[in-house]
Amino acid sequence: MLSAKIDTHTHTIASIHAYSSLKENIDSAKAKGLTGLVVTDHAPGLGLGDTFPKTYFGNMRKAIPKNVSGLRIFKGVEANVLDYDGTLDLPTTTLQKLDLVIASCHIQVVKPTTIEKQDQLWINVAHNPYVDIIGHSGDEHFRFSFEKVIKEFKKFHKIVEINSSSFPTRQNARKNCREIALLCKKYEVPITVSSDAHFYTEIGNFKEALDMLEDIDFPQELIVNRSVESLIAALPHCQK
Ligand SMILES: [Zn+2]
Ligand SMILES: [Zn+2]
Repeated sequence: MLSAKIDTHTHTIASIHAYSSLKENIDSAKAKGLTGLVVTDHAPGLGLGDTFPKTYFGNMRKAIPKNVSGLRIFKGVEANVLDYDGTLDLPTTTLQKLDLVIASCHIQVVKPTTIEKQDQLWINVAHNPYVDIIGHSGDEHFRFSFEKVIKEFKKFHKIVEINSSSFPTRQNARKNCREIALLCKKYEVPITVSSDAHFYTEIGNFKEALDMLEDIDFPQELIVNRSVESLIAALPHCQK
């Protein structure tokens, strides 16, 4: 049975369109038997208001303990890709202060274009040493040439996200994620499964993603969030 013990993509009220506090998310993670939680609120580029500027992310390590209620808390962000050059919406000086950085494309921020340009966008993102995770990789809007670009993710030590909440909500996400996961298996590219929770009840909800991975006989050792130790080992900028 495949499993994941840390939710690597979760939102709090600091994301403006999410509705739980960090404490509520921590309590929910603990109740579900997780051993860690990554806080990845949306960076300001999503345009949901400028209430939470970069200082919110810059102060996380100082303000939030490493362990709370027996859970390891990882300080992260869901950064926005702003353009086809792969520019992110937070400066390196802020990204450096975080344990984990997800880079995501959202249609509110960057307009979908041709597959060729999107290949280059993702390759540019992969070249950024502060990016750890390729966010909701199966999103049809930002589709890329899977085989070509996944090899590049491997070369630059990126982790590919299989975002469980995408399956019912994002067009073709289930089909795309399956194809992507098969290639990650073939080329031994590490992945993470995540909930992308915007409310505490969703924390740790990876069932759809894990079922699909079971179905393709995906190896447990390529799931980096299988344990706190394996996740720390996969994150070059994480506090030890
Ligand atoms: Zn969101
Ligand atoms: Zn998200």
